[in-house]
Amino acid sequence: TRDKRTTADHLAKYEAMFTLPPRRMQTLVKTMEETFHKGLQKDGETVPMIPTFVFGYAGGAEIGEYLALDLGGTNLRVCLVTLKGQGKFEIKQTKYKLTDEQKQDDGRKLFDFCAECLASFITDDLGRTSEDQALPLSFTFSYPCTQSRIDHAELIRWAKGFGAPNVEGHDVAAIFAESLAKFNVPIKLTSIISDTTGTLIASNYVDPSTKIGVIFGTGCNAAYMETVGNIPKMKHLGMPDDQEMAISCEWGAFDSFVPQHLPRTKYDVIIDETSNKPGEQVFEKMIAGLYLGEVFRLVLAEMVDAGDLFLGQNTSKLEKAYALDTAFLSLMESDPTDELLTVIGIFSYFFGIETTLEERQFCRSLAKLIGTRAARLGACGLAAIVSKKGYLDKGCSIGADGSLYGKYPGFADRIHEGLIDIFGEAGRQVLRRSVMHLTKVLG
Ligand code: ADP
Repeated sequence: TRDKRTTADHLAKYEAMFTLPPRRMQTLVKTMEETFHKGLQKDGETVPMIPTFVFGYAGGAEIGEYLALDLGGTNLRVCLVTLKGQGKFEIKQTKYKLTDEQKQDDGRKLFDFCAECLASFITDDLGRTSEDQALPLSFTFSYPCTQSRIDHAELIRWAKGFGAPNVEGHDVAAIFAESLAKFNVPIKLTSIISDTTGTLIASNYVDPSTKIGVIFGTGCNAAYMETVGNIPKMKHLGMPDDQEMAISCEWGAFDSFVPQHLPRTKYDVIIDETSNKPGEQVFEKMIAGLYLGEVFRLVLAEMVDAGDLFLGQNTSKLEKAYALDTAFLSLMESDPTDELLTVIGIFSYFFGIETTLEERQFCRSLAKLIGTRAARLGACGLAAIVSKKGYLDKGCSIGADGSLYGKYPGFADRIHEGLIDIFGEAGRQVLRRSVMHLTKVLG
C-alpha cells in the first residue's frame, strides 16, 4: 500500500539523519580531545574544563555522617550519607520535585526552597534538632561554575532550562549560605561540586578502577582526574605538577555558539533556537533527557503537518513544545508486545490519538534512532577522555548515572557499542558498568 511505502521512506530518511557512522564518531572524538586540551590551557574557552579543587580520590577508608543536597535539573534530592570505610556506605534520601516556575523565578527563592527542604529533612526525616552538632553538607550544584576553592562556585551560566535571575556571575555558596541562615539550618556548607565530580569520586570510592564520572540525566556532562602539570591555566597557583585535581569538563557546551562539528538535524536547531539559551550547550541538547523527547516530538509534528501521520486525528496535544517526555521513548522502546500495546496506550491516553500498527512501529524505530544517537554522542565524549588520558591500554571503569542512563533500555549497551566502533575491540575494556552516585543510589 501507499502508506507502507511512505512510512518506510520516512524511516530511511530519519535513519540517514540520526545515524552516526564510526568514521564520523572517530573524527568527533579527535575534535573533542583537542577541545578538552584547549579548555585546560586558558580561562574562557567554550568547553571550560573546570578545575573543581577536589584534590584526588577518597581513600575508601573515610567514615562519618555527611549531608548531600543535589540540585540536578528535575529534582532536588537531600541525603544523609554514612560512610563506613572499606568502600561501604549507607544512604537515606528524600526527593522533592522542582516546578517550572521555580526554575525561572528569582534565584534567592530557589535557594530558599533548597534551605527549607534541607531543614525539613533534618528535623522531620532525621529527627535532629538545631542543638545537635552541625552536620557537614556538600552541595551538588550541576551547572557550569568557576571555582577557586572547593566551597566557592561562581555560576557561569544556567543550563538545562533554568533561567533564575540574579545567580549568574554570583557565588552560589554565598547565596545559599544566606538562605541557610534565614531558615536557621544547623549545617556547615563544606563543598560545592557537580554531579559528575560526585559520581567520579563516589564510584571510585566503591571501585578504584573508576577513572571517569558521567551523567546522562536532565543534562549531560563528565568529570575525570587530571594532574596539575596538564592544566596550564592553573600554573600561577604554584601547585606541584603531580598534584591531582578533578576536572568537570562541562562538555555539554561542545560546539556551542558557532556549531561546525556536530551532525545537527533541523530539529536540534529548532530546540536550540527556541530555548531560553540559544547557541549554548549544543552538544547537551542532542543528548540529554530534557531534550530527546522534544526531538522526537518535533519529527512527529512535522510529519503530522505534512499529512503523513495520524491522518484525521486531533493532534493539538502533541503540538505543545516539550509535551512528550523522554521517558515515553523508553516506554516505546521497551514495549514487549507485537501489537505495541504500550505505544497504543501512550498516544491514546496522553495525546488522544489513535494509532495504526505501522505508525506505532515507526514511532518505536524513531525513538531508537534518537536514543541511539544520544548514547553514541556520549560515547564520543567518553572516548575523548579515554584517549587523552591513555586509559585504553589498561582499561578503566566509568561511573555513570542519571535517569537516562539508568532507565533508557539498552543505553549502556549502546555506549559500549559506540566505544567499540571508535576504538575497535580495545573499546570492550573501557566501560565497566557501575551506576553509583552517592546522592542518587535510591533515586
Ligand atoms: P537530574 O539530572 O535532574 O539530577 P535525573 O537523573 O532523574 O535528574 O534525570 C531526569 C531526566 O531524565 C529528565 O529529563 C527525564 O526526561 C529523563 N527521564 C526520566 N525518566 C526516564 C526514563 N524512564 N527514560 C529515559 N529518560 C528518563
